[in-house]
Amino acid sequence: MRLTQLYMPTLKDDPQDAEIQSHALLVRGAFIRKSASGIYSYLPLGYRIVRKIENIVRQEMDRAGSQEILMSAIQPREIWEATGRWERFGPEMFKLKDRNDREFCLGPTAEEYFTTLIKDEVKSYKQLPLNLYQIQTKYRDEKRPRFGINRTREFSMKDAYSFDRDPEGLEKSYMIMYRAYEKIFDRLELDYKIVEGDNGSMGGHKSHEFIALSEVGEGEIAYSENGKYAATVEKAPVDYPVGEKEEEKELEEVKTPNCKTIEEVSTYLEEDKAKCLKAIDLMANGEKVVVFIPGDRELNMAKLESYLMLPDHQIEMMSDEEIISIGSAPGFTGPKGLEDVRIILDKSVTKLQNLVIGANKESSHYINANYKRDFDGEIAEDLLLVKEEDTIPGTNDLYHFARGIEVGNIFQLGTKYAEGLHANYLDENGKEQVIWMGSYGVGVTRCVSAIAEQYLDEKGIAWPMVVAPYHAIVTVLKANDKSQAELGEKIYQDLIDQGFEVLIDDRKDRPGVKFNDRDLIGIPVRITVGRRAEEDIVEYSLRSDLDNKEEISSQEALDKASQYIKEHLNK
Ligand code: ATP
Ligand code: MG
Repeated sequence: MRLTQLYMPTLKDDPQDAEIQSHALLVRGAFIRKSASGIYSYLPLGYRIVRKIENIVRQEMDRAGSQEILMSAIQPREIWEATGRWERFGPEMFKLKDRNDREFCLGPTAEEYFTTLIKDEVKSYKQLPLNLYQIQTKYRDEKRPRFGINRTREFSMKDAYSFDRDPEGLEKSYMIMYRAYEKIFDRLELDYKIVEGDNGSMGGHKSHEFIALSEVGEGEIAYSENGKYAATVEKAPVDYPVGEKEEEKELEEVKTPNCKTIEEVSTYLEEDKAKCLKAIDLMANGEKVVVFIPGDRELNMAKLESYLMLPDHQIEMMSDEEIISIGSAPGFTGPKGLEDVRIILDKSVTKLQNLVIGANKESSHYINANYKRDFDGEIAEDLLLVKEEDTIPGTNDLYHFARGIEVGNIFQLGTKYAEGLHANYLDENGKEQVIWMGSYGVGVTRCVSAIAEQYLDEKGIAWPMVVAPYHAIVTVLKANDKSQAELGEKIYQDLIDQGFEVLIDDRKDRPGVKFNDRDLIGIPVRITVGRRAEEDIVEYSLRSDLDNKEEISSQEALDKASQYIKEHLNK
């Protein structure tokens, strides 16, 4: 492709809304353009990257035995009603009506749709296992679209769904997908970690997230240095360290004027924060719930959601009126003497003695309160947010923390969707059984931004060969110099004849403009044809190694280019 023809409107300045560098460079390098908040178009260079990622995903899915189909982006309301997700998905779902007032949504994901597709035709155990996928545009009306194409309202996702006879079958299908995902992200040359995930609104059992490591990532992960353990912070288990067991002392009510926070109580009573019980007064999907944890810790909302079996974002703080309605006073809630409320104790609370607890009235606390003797409640195994000094349960290893971008997510769904939609099959004995499902997503367009984030420098994005929009670029410094133009053309044709994807900068612009664009769009192999064209000498360099430039004959440059490209395509 000739740069005189290519639609590549590069920009000098960062767009105003760019919060991260990859976003700015993707816009400046003419890969993407924004049309509305969280809605983007892909220009020729950007779309070539998307298609290359899609193809890698496609190859690995096909190789793993999944079959590609394409369903509509428009999905009928009824199938979402059947699983309760029409309401539960909440405001993230784009809903629409046709001229007859029939309701639809723009698919944010497609568990219901795929299940509906197969359920009337998969009838026998002989038709299972089955794995289908599509690469399709998804729609989510995100609260905060941000970081360019990293979190958008319209994006390309590869979504796959597996259908099995039983949990063992599901486990097998799941592991096949797990391995296929490793191959995909290895081939995309992403630096990533696989972590145990929080199941969130999908419901179900096991899940893993594939996280591309990046400082600007919205996800936080906790892992062991030896690489044996990694989980999202939402999921990472906490083994709360308890000291020696103390003798129980006598319960006593004390005045604590205006001491509403743990900080204030612990300072005023000169007691360890850990022993001042923290109350979190909540409305969980309409139900009044108070959770108690040690005062030196934070509540992990995702763990609580999963304990309460609630979808994401259904938990709010109680209002002052609601706190009063459970027989308490805002800032002084304790587990002794509450009314009409569900009391949940993190297990650690039951292992501590002589606690300070709110007395459920203004400016009062109890000291020396003890579980069972003075208060009771249901016990949740682990509701704590992991922190820096925590060790990984069952080991002496400290957690390490990193940030990253979720590029893939795999779930064992179990029977939840099949039950809601009545997807059953007949087993060997003619007995009706429910189908076991898994779902598997790759954020195709998000991968573009994750790769960009990992491979950028101040001048642009040094794309890995496998996804680079073109393999090589020939820059002719003076396009109207006959020998330069001819030699450039010859090299360009030769590389194309070898089957490579090549750009030639045949524009009449100043060399500085050409060099800047070339660095910005980040084509891996560069051959510059300049002053020494008459001697058949060109400059050879790589985008990933800007400091090394070689002046060599055109044939040597061709040989080097060809070898380098082949090597890096086959990695
Ligand atoms: P997130 O936690 O980032 O909102 P998610 O867990 O809701 O994502 P999934 O339902 O697991 O997303 O979707 C599968 C994949 O689709 C994700 O791993 C991610 O790579 C991609 N994806 C999800 N939401 C978006 C979005 N708004 N923009 C771009 N890609 C997205
Ligand atoms: Mg996810």
